[in-house]
Amino acid sequence: MDWIIVDGHQDIAMALLEDEGWDFSAPAGSGHALSLADAKAGRVVLILGTIFATAGYWKDATPAECAERQMGLYEDLLARHADDMFRVESRGDLQLCQPGGPIGLAHLMEGADPIRSPRDLKRWARRGVRVVGPAWNTGNRYCGGWDDARGLTADGKRLVAEMRANRVIPDVSHLKPEAFDDVLACDDGLIVASHSNAHALQAHRRNLTNDQIQAVAERDGLVGVVLYNPFLGEDPVTVETVLDHVEHMVGLVGADHVGLGSDLDGGFGPTDAPEGIDSVGDLRRIGEGLAGRGLEDEAIGKILGGNWMRVLRRALPE
Ligand SMILES: [Zn+2]
Repeated sequence: MDWIIVDGHQDIAMALLEDEGWDFSAPAGSGHALSLADAKAGRVVLILGTIFATAGYWKDATPAECAERQMGLYEDLLARHADDMFRVESRGDLQLCQPGGPIGLAHLMEGADPIRSPRDLKRWARRGVRVVGPAWNTGNRYCGGWDDARGLTADGKRLVAEMRANRVIPDVSHLKPEAFDDVLACDDGLIVASHSNAHALQAHRRNLTNDQIQAVAERDGLVGVVLYNPFLGEDPVTVETVLDHVEHMVGLVGADHVGLGSDLDGGFGPTDAPEGIDSVGDLRRIGEGLAGRGLEDEAIGKILGGNWMRVLRRALPE
């Protein structure tokens, strides 16, 4: 049980932006499930910290301004906790992500609104953004949202091409079916769904159908199980509910294509996360639960961290 944990989706900067009094380094509590102390204690070695800056999200800031501000918050965090966190910039850096060592941080942009043009992607990639979702629930210049008819636009297709050129992985988690298919049609490269569950178990539009889960697996990607109760099931939602989603996906595509994308503190508090998961330090309970259901240790290791490591190795330079 010497698993390492990689969490593919934590809205750290969003939580810092919205709660100025919050101390990320303190143990979790007072409405926050994210915490550096709990991550370290819970064998979390690598985190994809999101940049969430869709149009209209933050006061009168433009998406680019909001994204800059969030990136600044990450820079402050890295400077303040230089012994405990570092930015992952190369494949070699992944090897430094070990329990007891500093936690690696890379970034995921949730909605490409801050990227001014497809060519502008390169600038964000250089700053540590390794995964980009073309759109969040609302549409932008690259991709339609849930309330309009567009899929990927011409600029969206150019953006995906720029992602490939810069080793940035497309995230299909928030995409409606048309846009999901458009991303698949762009090329045959790796894709991830950083934080989505199985639609077969919980019929929410944010969850993926079996066909979509299989499409992600065929591209050698992964689906990160998300710990937001409305995406998991009806009350009471517990760790067992999470295990049901993991088991369903593993049954469908095998243990190589399932991971964690907790989405903790993403606009919801611990009360909207499953019973038994009060903080990021409790993610290992998913591993313990899977062991209890008879999953082999090697498979559990992949699900908790190994698969994100494999995927990110492909997204990072030597
Ligand atoms: Zn999200």
